[in-house]
Amino acid sequence: MTAATHSSAFPAAADSADAVLLGLDPEQREVATTLRGPVCVLAGAGTGKTRAITHRIAYGVRSGQLMPASVLAVTFTNRAAGEMRGRLRTLGAGGVQARTFHSAALRQLQYFWPKAVGGEVPRLVERKIQLVAEAGARCRIRLDRSELRDVTGEIEWAKVTQTVPADYPAAALKAGRETPRDLAETAQIYGTYEQLKRDRGMIDFEDVLLLTVGILQDRRDIAEQIRTQYQHFVVDEYQDVSPLQQRLLELWLGDRDSLCVVGDASQTIYSFTGATPDHLLSFRTRYPQATVVKLIRDYRSTPQVVHLANGLLNQAKGRAAEHRLELVSQREPGPAPVYAEYPDEPAEAEGVAGRIRDLIAAGVPAGEIAVLYRINAQSEVYEQALADAGVPYQLRGAERFFERAEVQKGLLALRGAARSAGSGNDPLLDGVVELGSQVRAVLSSTGWSTEPPAGSGAVRDQWESLAALVRLAEDFARARPGATLADLTIELEERKAAQHAPTVQGVTLASLHAAKGLEWDAVFLVGLTDGMMPITYAKTDEQVEEERRLLYVGVTRARLHLTLSWGLSRAPGGRASRRPSRFLNGLRPGSAAPGAREGAAAERGVRKRGRRGPVLCRVCGKTLTEAGELKLMRCEDCPSDMDEGLYERLREWRATQSQEQGLPAYCVFTDKTLMAIAEAAPSEAGELSMISGVGGRKLDRYGADVLAICAGGDPGGSGADDA
Ligand code: ATP
Ligand code: MG
Repeated sequence: MTAATHSSAFPAAADSADAVLLGLDPEQREVATTLRGPVCVLAGAGTGKTRAITHRIAYGVRSGQLMPASVLAVTFTNRAAGEMRGRLRTLGAGGVQARTFHSAALRQLQYFWPKAVGGEVPRLVERKIQLVAEAGARCRIRLDRSELRDVTGEIEWAKVTQTVPADYPAAALKAGRETPRDLAETAQIYGTYEQLKRDRGMIDFEDVLLLTVGILQDRRDIAEQIRTQYQHFVVDEYQDVSPLQQRLLELWLGDRDSLCVVGDASQTIYSFTGATPDHLLSFRTRYPQATVVKLIRDYRSTPQVVHLANGLLNQAKGRAAEHRLELVSQREPGPAPVYAEYPDEPAEAEGVAGRIRDLIAAGVPAGEIAVLYRINAQSEVYEQALADAGVPYQLRGAERFFERAEVQKGLLALRGAARSAGSGNDPLLDGVVELGSQVRAVLSSTGWSTEPPAGSGAVRDQWESLAALVRLAEDFARARPGATLADLTIELEERKAAQHAPTVQGVTLASLHAAKGLEWDAVFLVGLTDGMMPITYAKTDEQVEEERRLLYVGVTRARLHLTLSWGLSRAPGGRASRRPSRFLNGLRPGSAAPGAREGAAAERGVRKRGRRGPVLCRVCGKTLTEAGELKLMRCEDCPSDMDEGLYERLREWRATQSQEQGLPAYCVFTDKTLMAIAEAAPSEAGELSMISGVGGRKLDRYGADVLAICAGGDPGGSGADDA
């Protein structure tokens, strides 16, 4: 596409291939300059594997040894592919395709479908989770958000392992899979999902790989055509290649050997989907002439973080562990990792949110902080805690940015506006201001307001998406002075094609799996109890080792600040029956006596909140465990005694607050907290402070206002300033 015509970031004078090699160490340089034959890079986390291969491609292109269009770079996630494209563009190699296996296969499938199969190319399922939800509804099975994600994961696993719905329960049992729903229910949803897909003439991502492999195997002519186009292959995160992906790679290569793979066997974390590091580790056996390079300098993390990462790997066993390399940090020393123990999960989440607020106050950007957990279901309590602490966050693994309905509508409007605006920019106006305000004006015409809406949930999410689109436009205008609305729409289309969501200025909440390949200044590894890490269903030695590698991936995401935490019971008042992860034994200070003097966060966590006994539903008296229910202080479905009028007045007040402070409304109070306030109608501060979500800071800031509203009066003002 037009990417190749974008100007390079290199000034013309330094426009030489060698400039690309500056900023690489000797081993990385060897990777970058070995452009012929098979190359294998075996190296630990943060040693610059991804950097080495992007520079390799750029060096090859700029030195004229690789034709940009003949190179296919394959990475693991859309996000990583997007970042790679960005880096390649900056390095002057924008014409190179950088894709995931899936997206590369999809392009080929779409292109060759008419010739290979004939007829309409089946449409791709865009919102798999939604289709799974629909399938669930047809089966009369109600799934909450995290169950939906987990069931979707099960369907994906079944397809990658080529398990049909009828065989799923037996296969899942045999593989020791833990599922959120009954196996038969999951199988039923899976079967209905496949049926819905067929009825609508659609295919999903897993079908894409299966069909492409099928076509390449059956049709020599098509295989030849693809091989003529792509002659050089680069694969990142090769330790996690699945047998199906490996098959595709072999079909792409044919009998040629221009293949460069990089990976770290110690980061194999997708064995449960059928992936295996064997292809990486036996690369030399397959290609005896291969150049094998090892990197050990860790450029990402401080010696403190690297020390912990090495310690973790020292305890590892199995084939992957035999290939481990001791990492050597290249960075200045930083703070020691913090180990924090809490009485329960909500206290842990609150403690983590508090520390995050401190970090942000100390100047760490929210976008440079991540909370990583083992399973998606853990996100909820952190979403709540961050919202309560007034910290914006971003859920990774949520629906893709450009696939959201509001974003698509926004893009449509921008395209329309670009067409009617013609080509010229008003030279009198500053580019950034101009493009930003143009975009705002166009989006406003679709119903978007520059101020955040009062509500939380879906409405807020939609508003945030469009706000991100505006930021994206402004960033673009800054990077490309003089760019027009038409240029912007081209850029957005490219990003859309690349599924590259803009970075949102919020704390990232992600599973450890989704964090692969990424890095942040501050990382919080949460829920590190035995049972969650390793997860209970990891039974065999191999499964436990994969869990350890997952923790290693988590630890090595941190550049500077690393906090590892766990809660001793699930719910407040529960029995403290949990223990910290066995993987930390011998690594965390005083492993023998956990909990003793382990950092400020731990102290914050064990701070007593008057929650010594279990929390009971105020309507039916049942013990509450769900975060949302704890907040309401009643079961979700027990009748509410909320004062609707009071709730409305509180919402109006919150809308004003959020506008005045430029904060999303949920950062003032979440809907659930407002409901709980409207139900309790507290008459004094002590009562108000008992409501979950009203911490000391919020009490200071908003207490007077809220109590005034509850008393039926007017709030006095916008509260004290939060220093
Ligand atoms: P992972 O195994 O987690 O995928 P990786 O080996 O791919 O890690 P990169 O992401 O390429 O590592 O690099 C880690 C960090 O170190 C990046 O911020 C990168 O820019 C930086 N880095 C890598 N090599 C160098 C170098 N030679 N000089 C300076 N910084 C470097
Ligand atoms: Mg990498």
